[in-house]
Amino acid sequence: MRATATYPQVDTPVVSSIALAFDYNPPSMSNRKIVTRFAPSPTGHLHVGGARTALFNWAFARKHGGTFILRIEDTDRARSTAQSTRAIIDDLRWLGLDWDEGPDEKADDPYDPQSQIGEHGPYFQSQRLDLYKEHAQRLMQAGRAYKCFKTPDELKAQRDNAKAEKRPYKYDRTESINLPQPTIDKYVEEGRPHVVRFRMPDHDITVHDLVLGDVTVKASELEDFIILKSDGYPTFHLANVVDDALMQVTHVLRAQEHLMNTPKHVALQEALGFESPKYAHMPLIFNADGSKMSKRDKAKTARAAAKEWMKQNNDNIDRLYHEIKEECAGYLDSIGLTKETLQDFLDKKTDDVLYPQAIARFLHIPLPEIDVNDFRLSGYLPEALLNYLALLGWSPGNDVERFDLDFLKENFDLKRIGKSNARFDRDKLLAFNTEAIAKLSSDEFHQQLIRHDGYSRSCTFQIGLGNRFRPFAACYRERSRTLDEPFANGQFFVTDDTKIEYDPKAIDKALLKNDDQGLAVLNDLQPPLESIPTDKWTASELEKTIKDYAQQKNLGMGKVAQPLRVAVSGSTVSPPIFDTLVILGKGSTLARIGRCLQLNTPQQQTEAS
Ligand code: GLU
Repeated sequence: MRATATYPQVDTPVVSSIALAFDYNPPSMSNRKIVTRFAPSPTGHLHVGGARTALFNWAFARKHGGTFILRIEDTDRARSTAQSTRAIIDDLRWLGLDWDEGPDEKADDPYDPQSQIGEHGPYFQSQRLDLYKEHAQRLMQAGRAYKCFKTPDELKAQRDNAKAEKRPYKYDRTESINLPQPTIDKYVEEGRPHVVRFRMPDHDITVHDLVLGDVTVKASELEDFIILKSDGYPTFHLANVVDDALMQVTHVLRAQEHLMNTPKHVALQEALGFESPKYAHMPLIFNADGSKMSKRDKAKTARAAAKEWMKQNNDNIDRLYHEIKEECAGYLDSIGLTKETLQDFLDKKTDDVLYPQAIARFLHIPLPEIDVNDFRLSGYLPEALLNYLALLGWSPGNDVERFDLDFLKENFDLKRIGKSNARFDRDKLLAFNTEAIAKLSSDEFHQQLIRHDGYSRSCTFQIGLGNRFRPFAACYRERSRTLDEPFANGQFFVTDDTKIEYDPKAIDKALLKNDDQGLAVLNDLQPPLESIPTDKWTASELEKTIKDYAQQKNLGMGKVAQPLRVAVSGSTVSPPIFDTLVILGKGSTLARIGRCLQLNTPQQQTEAS
C-alpha cells in the first residue's frame, strides 16, 4: 500500500508518434496483469445497474488474479457529493465487494489522500485536476485540441442555422482553429470564458468490443467535443481516458449506454499515445414493461399517483401541497419542496429524487426499488441481490442459476455476457430472496432482523420489544420473503395500545357477524385471561385457557382466535395467536381487548356518541 498526495508520473503505453511529449516504451497490454475498475459518479446511491457493473468488473479481476480499482469520478461539481461517495462505498461493502485500490472504506475521511490505498492514487478525480490539464495541454501542443471561445449564443445560432437549412447540426471548428495565436492570447488575458475541444480525427473509428464485436462510427459522424470545461474542470471523457491509462486499466466493462462515448475515448487514447483498454459493453437493464430501468422510475410512479389524487380532488394543487406538508412536516423544507417545485415536478420539469419520497409517504404508496439501498431497505439479502444481478446479461450456462461470489470468482467469463437487453424480473428476485432467507438458521435470521431493524427503523422494534424481540423473530422466520416483512406486518406489536386502528372489514367479519359472536368471545375471555399470572403468560398456558373456553362453548378454535387476533392487532392477519399474545404480554393483550370492546360494542358506541 502506498498513500500519495502527489500525481503519478505518466508511464503508460504509448504507440503514437504525434506528440513529442510521449516517448515511452511500455509493456504491451497483453502481457499485463488484468486490471479492472469501477468508476461511479457520486450523485446518489448505487443504482442496481452500477452494482452489476461493479460486480462484473470485480468478478473478472478476481477470476484472473488481477486488480480491482474503485475510482470516484467526481468532476461534475454541481452533482457530486461526499455523502453520495460514502453511500456508494457503503452499498458496495454491504454487497460484499472489495477493492484492491481506491478509497479506504474504514477511513474517517475517504477523501484524505493519505488514507487511500494503492499506487495510482489519488482515486478521486477531483484530486487529479492538474493531471487532466497537463494532458489537455499536451493535446493542444500536438494540435489535437484547441481553445474554443464560442459563446452559448453563438453556438445556438449555429444550431438554429442548421435547423433552418434542414441539415443535421455538427459543431463547426473552422473559426476556432483559425484564430491567430495573438488573438487567443488576448482573449485569455481578457479572461474570456472558453473551453478546450478535442479535434476528432478525419477517419472512421472502430471499437473492438468484446461483447458486441466491432462497432464503427463513420468519420462524418464524429464531432469535436469538449475536454476541459470553462471552469477548468475536465469532462468525463478526458478524465476517464487519462485515468484508465495512468491506472493501467486493461479491461473496461461498462453498460451499453456508454457505447457511443467509446469512439471518443478511443480517439483520445490514439491522440495521447495510450493503448486502448479492451472494452466490453454490457446489456441495458429494462423494466418488465419494456421501459429502461432508471432512477426516474420513482419519479414516474410518484407523479402518476399524485396526478390521480389531483384528479379525485378537483385538481387542487394547494390542497395536495397542504396535505403532503401535514404528513411530512419539516422534511419538505429540507428537500426544498414548495408549491411551485411540486407543480414543476408534476409538469415533468424536474425529476428530483427526493420529492417522490414525500409524495409516496403522504399517499402511502411504495416506490419501485432502483438503488441497491432501496433493496436493502426493502429487506433483500445481499447474496440474493448479487446472485440475481449476476444473471442480468450473464449466465454460467448449464441452467445454473443459484450461486454465490465464490462461484463467480471461479467461473466468471466475458464470453458469456449476452448482447440482448436484460429484463429485471422482480418476482424472480423475490423468489431468490425467499430462498436465501429460508436457508438462514434461526440464529442468523434473528441477527439479520436485528441489523435490519437498526438500519431501516432506528431500532424501533428492539427498543419496543426488548427481550421479546427473539420470539418475535422466531414466529416470522417461516413466512418471510424479505427481512422487512416481519416489521411491516408486525407493526402492531410496537404500536401504542391506544393507537391500534381497526380494519372495519375485520371487525364485521370477526366480531359482529352472528349476533356479535366475536364480541361475546372477547367479553367471556377477559376474566380467564386476567387470572393467568404474569409469570405464567406462556404459549402453553394461553393455549390451555383458550382451548378450555372454546370447548366449553363448543366453538371451533378459529371462532375464538380470530376475535382475539383482531382485538390485539386490528386485522385478521398475525402470527399464530398464542405466540402473538406472548410477545404482546399480558398488559397489552388485556388493554387492547378492553379498548376493542369499548370501541366496537354497539350500545357503547351509542352511549359514547
Ligand atoms: N463515471 C461513469 C459512470 O458512472 C463511468 C463510466 C465508465 O465505466 O467508464 O457512468
